[in-house]
Amino acid sequence: ITMAYQTINPYTNEVLKTYPNATSTDIESALVTGHDLYKKWRNEPVNSRSTILHKIADLLRDNEDELAKIIVEDMGKLFKEAVGEVELCALIADYFADNSEELLKPTKIKSGAGDAWVEKHSTGVIMMVEPWNFPYYQIMRVFAPNFMVGNPMILKHASNTPGSAVSFEKIVNEAGAPDGSLKNLFLSYDQVSDIIADPRVQGVALTGSERGGKSVAAAAGQNLKKNTMELGGTDAFIVLDDADIDEVMKVAKNARIYNAGQVCTSSKRFIVADNLYDEFVKRLTEQFSTLKPGDPMDPNTTLAPMSSARAKEKLQKQVNAAIKAGAKVEFGNKEIDLPGQFFPATILTNIDKNNPAYSEEMFGPVAHVYKVHNDQEAIDLANDSNYGLGGITFSGSKDHGVKVASQIETGMEFVNTFMFTLPELPFGGVKNSGYGREMSNLGLEAFVNEQLIVAV
Ligand code: NDP
Repeated sequence: ITMAYQTINPYTNEVLKTYPNATSTDIESALVTGHDLYKKWRNEPVNSRSTILHKIADLLRDNEDELAKIIVEDMGKLFKEAVGEVELCALIADYFADNSEELLKPTKIKSGAGDAWVEKHSTGVIMMVEPWNFPYYQIMRVFAPNFMVGNPMILKHASNTPGSAVSFEKIVNEAGAPDGSLKNLFLSYDQVSDIIADPRVQGVALTGSERGGKSVAAAAGQNLKKNTMELGGTDAFIVLDDADIDEVMKVAKNARIYNAGQVCTSSKRFIVADNLYDEFVKRLTEQFSTLKPGDPMDPNTTLAPMSSARAKEKLQKQVNAAIKAGAKVEFGNKEIDLPGQFFPATILTNIDKNNPAYSEEMFGPVAHVYKVHNDQEAIDLANDSNYGLGGITFSGSKDHGVKVASQIETGMEFVNTFMFTLPELPFGGVKNSGYGREMSNLGLEAFVNEQLIVAV
C-alpha cells in the first residue's frame, strides 16, 4: 500500500495539503545529481562543507517559530517542544560542522608491516527513511554527519510529515548546499526498494517501527547495502529502593508523556521497588491528572494530540487488549471530549507476562507500572523484552544506579536524570530496537569507507 503524502492537522483534523508522489524521472534525477556530487565532494576537504552546515544552523535558529509551526501542523506536538526540536537540530549541525574534520582524521596503526593507517572516505548516496515523531531531528541526525563526510542523501519522510520534509530541504538549499546534498522525494515503498538496489546508493538509514525496519533492512541486505536501524523500544524506568522519590517525580511524568508519549526512548515500563511503589503510583496519578489537553499552539496546553487518527486507534486497541488480559487502569483511559486525536494520559498496572502489553510497545501516553522486590528482579524484568533501546535508573547512590544500569541490555542508559540526546552522544539500540548508532563519532562513521593504507 502506498499512502498519500498529506498534512492532516491532528488537532483540527483538517487536511492542509496533499503532495504528489515522485515519478521515475524525479528518482533518476536525484540519483544522477547525488552521484555526481559524491564524486565532486570526494576531492574536497571535509571542512569545505562546514560553513554551509553552520549556515543551516543559523537559518534554523533565525526561523525557529515558523519552522516549529510546520511540525505542529504536520503531527501535533506542543509548539514549545517543536521549538526545542528546531534548536536541537541547530546544535547538531554546529557540532558536526565544528568537529567532523578532527573526528575523521586518519588513524595510525602500530604494525610490523610498515607505515599503516586507516583513512575515512565517503562512500556514495545514502537513502534515509525517517519517521514523523521528530520530523526535523530525525533527518538532522543522519544529514549533518553525512553532509560532512561527503555522502549525498535522498530522503523518504513519513507520509504524514511532508510539510516538515519540504521545509527542511528548503533550509538546506537556502544555506547554499549544492544540489543533491539532500533530495526529498515522496516515495512509495517499492520506489524505496528500487533506490536501495541502485548501485549509486551505498547506505540505508532508517528510523521507525520494527515492521518498517525489517522490510527496509531486508531490501538493504538483498543488495548488500550497509544499513543502520533505529527502531522501537519498551524502555524501562527503574526506581531502586534507595531512590529519592522527589527526584524521581521530577522526571517520571515527562519521561512518559513528552511528545504525547511518541518517543522511541519514552519510558514505557516503570519498574518500581516495593517500598516506593504505592507512593510512585499515587504521585504519577496526581501528575497525570493535572495535564491539560488542548491546542498544541497554546502555551498552556500540556497534553498534545497524537500524531494521527491511525496512531490513536492503534493505541486504543492495545489498551483495550491489555485490560481484557487483566491489566488494571489506575488512571485515565477516558475519552477526551475534543475533536483532535487526543489520547488520555493513562496508567496501567497488574500486567502479567501473558498480557500482550507486557511485551508490546505502546507509542503514546500510557505508562505501565510494575512492582519488584529487589535489584535482580528489576534487572530481569527490564531485560525480559525483545527490545533494547534505552532506559533510566534512579537511585540514591550514583554507583548503585550505574551498577544496575550497566546490567540492562540496551544501547543507552541514564542514571538519575531524564533521557536526553546531544550530538556528541551515540544514539541507538540492541535486540529488535535495531543496530548501528547515529550521532557522535559512531554516527559520523556509519557510512564511511575505512580504507587501510599500508606504505612501505
Ligand atoms: P513506520 O516504520 O511505519 O514508519 C517510519 C518510516 O518508515 C516512514 O517514513 C514510513 O513510511 C517508512 N516505512 C515503513 N515501512 C516501509 C517499507 N516497507 N518500505 C519503505 N519505507 C517504509 O513507523 P510508524 O509510522 O508506524 O511509527 C510508529 C512506530 O515507529 C513506533 O511504534 C515506534 O516503534 C517506531 N519509531 C521509532 C523511533 C526511533 O527513533 N527508534 C522513532 C519513531 C518511531 P510511511 O509513512 O509512508 O508509511
